[in-house]
Amino acid sequence: MKKRARKRKRLKRMLLLFGGAAAFAALLALFIVLIVRLSCHKPEPTNAVATAAPSPYETALPTETPTPVPTATAKPPITDDWYAARTDLLEQYVRAFGGLSDESEIRARVAGMAIDPAQKRVAFTFDDGPQDDLTDAVLDICEQYNARVTFFIMGRHIVGHEPQLKRMLALGCEIGNHTWDHADVETLTAEQMRQQIEDVNRTLFSVLGYRCHLFRPPYIRYGDKGSETRNTLIGILRDNEMAIVNHTRSSHDTYSTYSADRIYERCVAETDELGHGLHNSIILCHDKTEKTVEAFRRIVPTLQERGYQFVTVSELLYCSEDGFHVGWIYSKAD
Ligand SMILES: [Zn+2]
Repeated sequence: MKKRARKRKRLKRMLLLFGGAAAFAALLALFIVLIVRLSCHKPEPTNAVATAAPSPYETALPTETPTPVPTATAKPPITDDWYAARTDLLEQYVRAFGGLSDESEIRARVAGMAIDPAQKRVAFTFDDGPQDDLTDAVLDICEQYNARVTFFIMGRHIVGHEPQLKRMLALGCEIGNHTWDHADVETLTAEQMRQQIEDVNRTLFSVLGYRCHLFRPPYIRYGDKGSETRNTLIGILRDNEMAIVNHTRSSHDTYSTYSADRIYERCVAETDELGHGLHNSIILCHDKTEKTVEAFRRIVPTLQERGYQFVTVSELLYCSEDGFHVGWIYSKAD
């Protein structure tokens, strides 16, 4: 009896020991599985955007090397349709006003006006013309360097300056509306405003077959936001499928204290006093003083050497994320 009881006791101890070891092994295994699972549980990136999102801590860190010079590396959204329409229109102008009749020569000239989306762009604008010699001089520079600019002309200057206007279009330049006789929009009635704008468009169309889509108000005055003047103006521009073009930077070429050298320095500075970069900017000049022409003659090669393309305002806008929208007010492209 005693022997059997001892045997049972030993068996019980063995079972307890064995059970404990098994339980310990099971716990250990569970612990290992948990550790392995935790160490492997990193969220998989669902797409490239998620992984590219910067950490808030990283953005808070001061950057050692600030890069104020803008670069155009991302491809802007130039659509094939817009580019085909642009090519077609440019070929029409070269055919009509460029002195070429051979179709392959016309195509080759327009091919030379191509836009490289990966390169930086700037839109120079010349107001108050056309004039005889000074507008010719600006166009000579455009032709020499294959540069395109935008001329905001006055309606009363159209008749008598047809050769300059035709040459603008043949060189791929753009013509914008600067009212019939440099009227201050803020002093006009709605009817006068419409006449000042639509008379220019009508005359441009009858002389050149050209449809104008840009309006630059003289003195850059177009009423405060929400004012009756602004609302009336925007309404007229919408009716005519036009947008307002302000500027990013003025060349200050109408200041008597600004020499050709100062105009040049202002226009080629990578950043202006407000921190706006040159890429995608709209620069205000006038084709009515010799010093502006003198400065522009140096500005074009300087900026082309830095990789800038001279484009029209419409090209600048269509090549940007913003695009062109009727009734909008643009001071630069974004
Ligand atoms: Zn003006």
